[in-house]
Amino acid sequence: MKIGIVGCAGRMGRMLMAEVIARPDAELAGGAERSGHEAVGQDLGVLAGLDSLGISAGDDVQALFAAADAVIDFTAPAATAENARIAADQATAFIVGTTGLDDAQQAAIVQASEKTAIVQAANMSLGVNVLLGLTRQVSATLGDDYDIEIVEMHHRHKVDAPSGTALALGRAAAEGRGVALDDVAQKVRDGHTGERVPGDIGFATLRGGDVVGDHTVVFSGPGERIELTHRAASRVLFARGAVTAALWAEGRAPGHYSMADVLDLS
Ligand code: NAD
Repeated sequence: MKIGIVGCAGRMGRMLMAEVIARPDAELAGGAERSGHEAVGQDLGVLAGLDSLGISAGDDVQALFAAADAVIDFTAPAATAENARIAADQATAFIVGTTGLDDAQQAAIVQASEKTAIVQAANMSLGVNVLLGLTRQVSATLGDDYDIEIVEMHHRHKVDAPSGTALALGRAAAEGRGVALDDVAQKVRDGHTGERVPGDIGFATLRGGDVVGDHTVVFSGPGERIELTHRAASRVLFARGAVTAALWAEGRAPGHYSMADVLDLS
């Protein structure tokens, strides 16, 4: 199966290419970057930290989709929304790892999934997808007497906050309570905030160093506290999950799928 990588010179893009190259059941169809990016023209194998492959990074995303059975996208929200339209036009399976999409960009992904199989997950690791299920379950079991707070920490280069994974954990907690996250999310606290509003789901964002991704869901109740924590030690986890999703998506009916579908956790 031929897999293409958009954003091939990014932190995740390089890992994704190394993972595709390492898999016996996958072949690297190519890699694309923004026009004018210094990686355009460089060898994809070298960008992935491996031996030269004899294939150069390009800047023609349309051509990449035409050459691939599935394309993996860990880039930036505007690019991902545009690439979803290309995936729909060419009926190419599309794997979305990019986070921080606004409502219109998210709607573009959902609309494209009417024409092709799209797997979208803010976090492609098995552990976080298990944590999502646990969070939903604990939230449903404990009820409103337990205040829910989600704490996340990422490396200093991350550009969106709270992380897509923190928001997904918030949605899972809200689902457990039968409410919409948008109605109860408390993403920023500053100054004289007053007391905590019962039923709120709070977020705290830490940034620094080279932390790959830590998430804790805190359930704080009368006289006790439960903390569910996931710590990612390497981006390889996410790359492996994304390539597994691409292999799973090929030939699938059009639809908007999650990692829970890929990992059969639903
Ligand atoms: P990065 O900045 O290192 O890489 C992004 C790459 O995309 C860059 O090389 C950039 O030049 C490229 N790019 C931007 N616009 C493009 C376009 N129009 N065409 C082609 N290439 C383009 O960032 P990163 O750390 O690799 O993260 C990328 C995204 O993936 C972020 O949104 C991050 O939150 C998300 N992420 C998701 C998971 C997951 O498991 N779902 C894991 C890690 C990171």
